[in-house]
This record gives sequence, structure tokens and C-alpha cells, in this order.
Amino acid sequence: MTAAEPLGVPWSAHAVRGADGAVRVAGVDVRDLAAEQGTPAYVLDEADFRDRARSVRTALEAAFGAVGAGVDVYYAGKAFLSVAVARWAHEEGLRVDTSTGGELAVALRAGVPGEHLGLHGNNKSDAELARALEAGVGRIIVDSLGELDRVVAAVRARGAGAEPAPVMVRVTTGVHAGGHEYISTAHEDQKFGLSVATPPGGGDSPAMTALTTVLRHPELRLLGIHSHIGSQILDPAGFAVAARSVLALRAELAERTGHLVPEVDLGGGFGIAYLPGEEVPDLPRIAEEIAAAVAGACTELGTPLPRLSFEPGRAVAGPTTLTLYTVGTVKPVSLEAGRSRLYVAVDGGMSDNIRPALYGAHYHAALVSRTGSAETVLARVVGKHCESGDIVVHEVQLPADVRPGDLLAVAATGAYGRSMASNYNHVPRPPVVAVRDGATRVLVRRETEDDLLALDLG
Ligand SMILES: *Cc1c(COP(=O)(O)O)cnc(C)c1O
Repeated sequence: MTAAEPLGVPWSAHAVRGADGAVRVAGVDVRDLAAEQGTPAYVLDEADFRDRARSVRTALEAAFGAVGAGVDVYYAGKAFLSVAVARWAHEEGLRVDTSTGGELAVALRAGVPGEHLGLHGNNKSDAELARALEAGVGRIIVDSLGELDRVVAAVRARGAGAEPAPVMVRVTTGVHAGGHEYISTAHEDQKFGLSVATPPGGGDSPAMTALTTVLRHPELRLLGIHSHIGSQILDPAGFAVAARSVLALRAELAERTGHLVPEVDLGGGFGIAYLPGEEVPDLPRIAEEIAAAVAGACTELGTPLPRLSFEPGRAVAGPTTLTLYTVGTVKPVSLEAGRSRLYVAVDGGMSDNIRPALYGAHYHAALVSRTGSAETVLARVVGKHCESGDIVVHEVQLPADVRPGDLLAVAATGAYGRSMASNYNHVPRPPVVAVRDGATRVLVRRETEDDLLALDLG
């Protein structure tokens, strides 16, 4: 028997194809997994998740340590959160970012200490704010002036002697990044954050107004300034521009009020490879570039370095997971000029991966239960939903003999897959099954029709 062949990027680190042609992840044969757990299923490579969590943290710690700044890394739970995953992140030295009461509940259930949790959201409810304070979250990232009033009220409601709420103010620097480029605009037309730009009529920016408002309230403790510029970022230049803008605001606030905020959060958004051969700058290099920009800006501004924080979600969770499907219908469709495309329908679709339909995202797929014929054809992997836009993989070469009953896997579905899953067409959501050292462990069980019917009161 020849040695197992690693699948490589964009698959998780422990995905290999054995001599028999079938794929194993962390020692678990996908055919056994499908037989035991059914399909579709998200298959999460636990050791890969832990390694990525740790290496993102150590890359940022090394880069910022070298310029003399401390750094905290928050796993952005919205990418994929379950009790086990929150616990892994915590065990690997990460904190956890939540953006709703539901995410907060999962992180707390996992035993992540309140002071290692952040609460985000542009429209937090009073109940969410009260719960965050009750849990002693380490920071509430405030997104509007109205929210500041509500945090103050929530602190007062806790009675005299309540601790002030630790807050960061989320600002928009005009930098938007994602994919290979970033763009920078002065005025922003989107819902998040408070602009650092001077309003058309002059006067303080909304960001400066929020910061000085926080300083006037004894119920609030101003921890710092927060900026998140986008997602799937492959070019670190956007981070550097945003960092300079945030640090300039920090210096200006210090000059005006004497208060130098101790922390700056530069958000998440580190990109990953979704396709074979896709070039992604490695994180240590990006971290060094951002650290150099931060250090350079602080030197120019004459301010001491802040403590930094980052919030990667996709870079930790994305590559760790594949979605395992069973092939159902296979249908050749003729295109113009004598070309044709093989439509390969699987037993899931846009309900377990909305990103292709939502963002036009591209994924890679492979036949994983056997090798298949050497000849390949242009294929499109589609789901079982009642939408022609229900596409899982736009374009991929698959063995020409792909047929019903084959197992097909889609790579790098760990971020924004299960977390954005829906019950469209009353399809129960797939389980998340962790694999490690030849063992499987169901982290989130498969939904059943009974689960769906339990909500329907007839
Ligand atoms: C979505 C989000 C993140 C995580 O983004 P990734 O692209 O998954 O790293 C971090 N911070 C904030 C505020 C976010 O909205």
C-alpha cells in the first residue's frame, strides 16, 4: 500500500487520500463517517482548528511583541460557534467575540470567563446589554450614540456601586477591504460604526463625539477604539491605513482630554484559500506589516503604543471543515459552442452554504469516496433547493464517471457555513462532526423533522 496523499490546500491539514482512493480526515474514513452520521455533514478537523487558533495568536504575539506591544486575539464566534469550539479557542489562549445574546450564551456555557468575552452588534437589545454586564464581559463594542445611553442605563439598573461598563467605540475609517484590494472613502454609507470624518457642516466627527461622551460618564470605562474593515482580506495595506487613522484619533483624543485610551482593536478579516493554488499571504508576514504600521504611526504621533487586539473568525475556522454530501442526480447540460456542463446535485445546498448565492463565493469540491476515472469534466455542484441560484460550487473539474451514491466533499466550509445555515425548504440543518486521531465526536447534532415540527403549533 502506498502512503496516504495529503489533499493540501484548501483542505484541512489532516485530510488525505488513501491508497484505496477514499479520503480520510484525521484518520476517519469519510465512507464510515457518512454511514454512521449520514450526509450532508460538516466534518471539522479538531487538531487543525486548534493549530490555526494557536498559530494566529502566536503570529500576532510575535509581531507585536517585536515592536513592544501586547496583543489579545479574540475568536470571532460568528464564523462558527459551538460549546466545544469556544472551549478549544479558550484552551488555545484566545478570547471569544460574540455579537448576540445567543452567541454570548454559547460562550458562557463553554466556560469562557466573562472578562475574556467581547460583545458586538449594531443593535444590541437592552436584554443583551444587561446579560453582558451580568456576565462581566471584558468589553462592549459600542456602535452608536444611542447605544451609549442604553449602556449607561443598563449600568445604573444594576444599582449603586455597579462596576462601570468597559466599552470600546467602533469607528469607521473609510477603509473597506476584502479580496485583493482595499478602498478608502471619507464618508460611509453603511450601518456599522461611527465615522472618523468631519461632518459636512464641520465640528467633531461622530467617532470623537462618542469618545468624549464616554469619558463624561462615570458608568462607562473607555477601553479603546475599534475598527473592522472587512473580511477575506488578502492585502494587509488596508489594515495599515485603518490603523493609522485609528491611532491618529487616539492621539487627538489624548490631546483634547488628556485621556490616552489603552487599547486599539483592528478587527478580523484575514483571508484564506478557497481554491487549490490560491495564493494567500501568510499570517506572520501580515502581522509584521500591521505591527510595523502601528509602531510607525505611534512614533510619528508621539504616543506610546496601545495594547492591540484582533478578531479572526474565518482564518481560524474556515479551512478546518469540509462539507460531506451524497451525490444524487447527475445531469449533463449543453452549453453553446458544443460545450457541456455536468450538473451534479447533492443532498444539501444553499441551506448549508449560502455564501455562493449571497456573495458569489467560490469553493472547491472533490469526489472523496473513491478516485474516479482519470478523465475529468467541467461540473457544477448544485443543491436540492427550489432556486436556480442554489449553487454550491460554480465550476470544478470532476471525474467523468461521478454518479449517484458517490460522496462529494466541499472544502473550507468551516466559517459562515453552519453559522449561516437555514431551514429553507424545511431541510433540517446538518450536524457538525469533529474528527481527531481516528475518532469522531458530534459537536452539534443533526436537526430532525421533529425539531422543525416542534416549532409549528398547527
Ligand atoms: C465578522 C467580524 C469579524 C470576523 O471576520 P473574519 O473575516 O471571519 O475574520 C471580526 N470582527 C467583527 C467586528 C466582525 O464583524
